[in-house]
Amino acid sequence: MTIWFDPSEMLIGGRWLRAADSMPVENPSTGETFAQIPRGQSRDIDAAVAAAHQALAGDWGRMPAVERGRLLSRMGRLVLERVDDLARLEAADVGKPLKQARADAVALARYLEFYGGAADKVHGTTIPYLDGYTVYTLRQPHGVTGHIVPWNYPMQIIGRSVGAALAMGNACVLKPAEEACLTALAFARLAVEAGLPDGALNVVPGLGAEAGAALTAHPGIHHISFTGSVATGALVQQAAAANVVPVTLELGGKSPQIVFDDADLDAALPFLVSAGIQNAGQTCSAASRILVHRSVHDEVVARMADRYGALRVGPAMDDLDVGPVISGRQKAIIDGFLDRGSDLDMAAQGNVIDGAPGGGYYVRPTLLTGATGDHPLAQAEIFGPVQVVIPFASEEEALAIANGTDYGLVAGVWTRDGARQMRMARNLRAGQVFLNNYGAGGGVELPFGGVGKSGHGREKGFEALYGFSQLKTVAAHHG
Ligand code: NDP
Repeated sequence: MTIWFDPSEMLIGGRWLRAADSMPVENPSTGETFAQIPRGQSRDIDAAVAAAHQALAGDWGRMPAVERGRLLSRMGRLVLERVDDLARLEAADVGKPLKQARADAVALARYLEFYGGAADKVHGTTIPYLDGYTVYTLRQPHGVTGHIVPWNYPMQIIGRSVGAALAMGNACVLKPAEEACLTALAFARLAVEAGLPDGALNVVPGLGAEAGAALTAHPGIHHISFTGSVATGALVQQAAAANVVPVTLELGGKSPQIVFDDADLDAALPFLVSAGIQNAGQTCSAASRILVHRSVHDEVVARMADRYGALRVGPAMDDLDVGPVISGRQKAIIDGFLDRGSDLDMAAQGNVIDGAPGGGYYVRPTLLTGATGDHPLAQAEIFGPVQVVIPFASEEEALAIANGTDYGLVAGVWTRDGARQMRMARNLRAGQVFLNNYGAGGGVELPFGGVGKSGHGREKGFEALYGFSQLKTVAAHHG
């Protein structure tokens, strides 16, 4: 794997710097180390936060919204020019099959394009008030925003959080996941190439417990955007509380797709499986629970099983249906869940191809049936290519099972009954509901976020711009 930049350098205040220590980059398809990246510490975070403050006091803070928008658009074009390089980098770093990695790079460009276009379109309002007053509101950046990004969709999550934050004029400090820093560093290179002023974006790779914790606890940070596990999200929220700063948390889910007896099964089938195994199931919005009306249960399971049997798992560069999972640790977590599901029926499994490197972290996609809604595997986020099918007998029961976890991120409903579609959409506990589809192509325009332990706040779409800004009310008394 040839990396076209020096991955041992991080970006702080427009300068490419080495950290005192480094950490290895492992290819999950082979288990081999192929690069070294900086292991940033709290002093690097201090420097990055200081640089971000300087940027706000300088060119970046004074830049008109239209110019910020042009810059983001330019960054988007540079990303598009390097889509294939970025895809190869991501595939090597996180094990994503090339086609999926390429789609992530295109999505990053699309976020930059979207937020570039939106930067000068966020307006305040004027408010009719008492005689002799003129009152209006201003939308202003928070200031310095901290971004903690996980390893499952690094480019997309950088696009949706850093893209929106920059559009609103914040200066960003980004701490990518230790297992997925390469595309974050590549993105930083492209941002500099596009002309982003020094300090507007700082990227400090490092460990969560070191650089991550230092960033979230830093008193110079004004907003934190975090995507990851519930446990770490709670720590981040505690750290933010100590400094009384707002947080956006996106903490995954246990999302259902609900198949009613009148569903168009031909349309549903591809979504039922792909939304469970995409990115080896390491997707916050993975459809890890399939709820099926009893009258079509056996047919749905049989048809899903056929698809599972055809799934091929192998190295990311082979671009098969499923790549390896991110790490040995993640594979062990998934294997542990499968042990806890040994009382369920194994309906089907995909296959690891012959010749897949022995050091890679391959997990066979697994379809399990015979579960009830309260089974541990129907409750916990597995974050692997494992789906659990749960039968139901009525709309009320389907709703109760669907809403019966701690999470509430996404839900899909397959039915031809329009009134039922409306009832389900209204009553499902989820931040996004998809009717007769799942994911809607992942549109960057669509506000996204959860309820319950899936987190709070909304990213993506225009809505994110409100989250990455604060409202000031100005009341002028002029008589
Ligand atoms: P984490 O939530 O621990 O990691 C997410 C991000 O938080 C990473 O950048 C991580 O850095 C950082 N981080 C870790 N500890 C801290 C801390 N104390 N303060 C600030 N930042 C921190 O998830 P894991 O990678 O450990 O994965 C474990 C499980 O989390 C998965 O099995 C899955 O269930 C869930 N998960 C959910 C995701 C989602 O999209 N909602 C994404 C990733 C994981 P570093 O990687 O360097 O530790």
